[in-house]
Amino acid sequence: MDIRASQTQLEFGQVRNPPPRRAVHPGMTTAATTLTPEQKTWQNHLLLHEFYGPLPLEPRRPPMRELISTLLSHRTTHADEELAYARMLEEFGDWQGVLAAPTAALAHTIRTTRWPDTQAPRIQEILRRIQAEQGAFTLDFLADWPVEKGLAWLTDMPGIGLKTASLVLLFNFRKPVLPVDTHVHRVAQRVGMIGAKTSVDKAHQLLLAQLPKDAVVLLNFHKHNYWHGQHICFFAKPDCGRCPLKGFCTYYLEHYGPPTLEALAATPTHWQKSWGVLLH
Ligand code: SF4
Repeated sequence: MDIRASQTQLEFGQVRNPPPRRAVHPGMTTAATTLTPEQKTWQNHLLLHEFYGPLPLEPRRPPMRELISTLLSHRTTHADEELAYARMLEEFGDWQGVLAAPTAALAHTIRTTRWPDTQAPRIQEILRRIQAEQGAFTLDFLADWPVEKGLAWLTDMPGIGLKTASLVLLFNFRKPVLPVDTHVHRVAQRVGMIGAKTSVDKAHQLLLAQLPKDAVVLLNFHKHNYWHGQHICFFAKPDCGRCPLKGFCTYYLEHYGPPTLEALAATPTHWQKSWGVLLH
């Protein structure tokens, strides 16, 4: 059976076994091959903005919590991260208590996270540095710092990479930076907004350079692509049938060929509530 025909006959959510990569012939001109990475990035923004809906830029939690919770969330589910954070504060009361706690006891309270024995001393070192430099457990000074200075300061902390630093600066201080996590990175690579071998750190720079320096746009781009990687562009088996990006996606072209009119017409234009809850 023709690959593209079988693709269009699948119900949404049923793309279980993507066909192997196929040759893209030099004469095969589609949007996937003719759009520049910058054009793909902007198309991605417009289509996912429509698909998932616009999001306001509001802090989802206080800066200190954003920093420590994001550290706890590495390779950990949202529920387990929340549980670890709640147990930590319940056991030790406040940041001073967390700093003064025996490190092994702190690790025990955050045991639902992936690496509690590594994260516990990191949390205490971060708290120690913030208190030593600021005289209090606050990150509010970042509001007045230039972006590059804030990024450098945050990424100098143990366990804090560009993604976590960017999340804090964007969500809490409306700085024009773009957090790139594993989901955003995967979607960007597959669509062709960045190269297939571009590292996550490099992706921060490349994608940011392709987008307006507008915190609301960057927040929307981050969240929409995060959701897209989580719910549609899965790591193992991307659900291309439901994806509004297939018209210019390099991965789609390489695995299914140019998208047919039927496949494009059958693609949903909006996220359906029946597919699940999108966590903020
Ligand atoms: S078409 Fe498929 S591979 Fe491309 S972004 Fe969409 S789900 Fe991912």
